[in-house]
Amino acid sequence: MLYIISAPSGTGKSTLIKKLLKRKNLISIGQSISYTTRSMRKGEKNKKNYYFVSLKKFQNMIEKKRFLEYAKVFGNYYGTEKKKIQNICRIYKNVILDIDWKGEKQIRKSNWKMKSIFILPPSKKELIFRLKKRDRDKKKTIIFRTNTISKEIKNYLLYDYFIVNDDLDKTVQKIESIIVAENLKMKRNRKFCISLIEKIFSEKIFKI
Ligand code: ADP
Ligand code: 5GP
Repeated sequence: MLYIISAPSGTGKSTLIKKLLKRKNLISIGQSISYTTRSMRKGEKNKKNYYFVSLKKFQNMIEKKRFLEYAKVFGNYYGTEKKKIQNICRIYKNVILDIDWKGEKQIRKSNWKMKSIFILPPSKKELIFRLKKRDRDKKKTIIFRTNTISKEIKNYLLYDYFIVNDDLDKTVQKIESIIVAENLKMKRNRKFCISLIEKIFSEKIFKI
């Protein structure tokens, strides 16, 4: 099952995912690392934040149909490799993806089981504060990114879930609750439920 997280830049996606991946007692979850043509920011590491590749390599991957989805976001290409997702699925029950609405749309149309979560900051002032605190983007980039979101709003209304990231820990708990509830749905557990009923009710107990 894939879980897509989208939010305006600086809302807290990376921070939330990092914290979610540490909560291992209720869910089994791995993160998809995307490919991008954008240049590395200070503090970022290749293969940890992204696979940083050239435009030529990215185009070659498109031609070879290696992406489950890809999109141009803020002038750079970003994409999720099918093989990487399949590898994560061999280890974990759930995979989390930090991608934009164009990617969400493509995965929704595919055969993959997925749910999407749209996250907003409590206010624009707080968003700008978080972007400045992160200290990774130029002023021009901050203005451009924070002005784009309202133009794209209709795409986010199609998401399955909506959360406001005000309190960090509570937001992580809410994301975890969504994943836990989705994992517990009868339609995803029918086989296991039937086998357990058969096992429980075929046991012969002579003494109580
Ligand atoms: P994104 O991945 O969405 O671009 P980040 O995870 O890099 O955003 O977060 C941007 C900044 O906001 C970071 O400095 C992070 O520590 C901070 N942040 C994230 N969530 C919260 C929150 N709920 N309250 C206060 N600060 C937050
Ligand atoms: P950033 O440059 O700030 O890391 O990411 C910019 C935007 O690209 C964010 O909205 C992020 O969700 C999106 N993004 C990151 N990886 C992917 C991806 O693989 N596919 C798509 N469609 N968007 C991505």
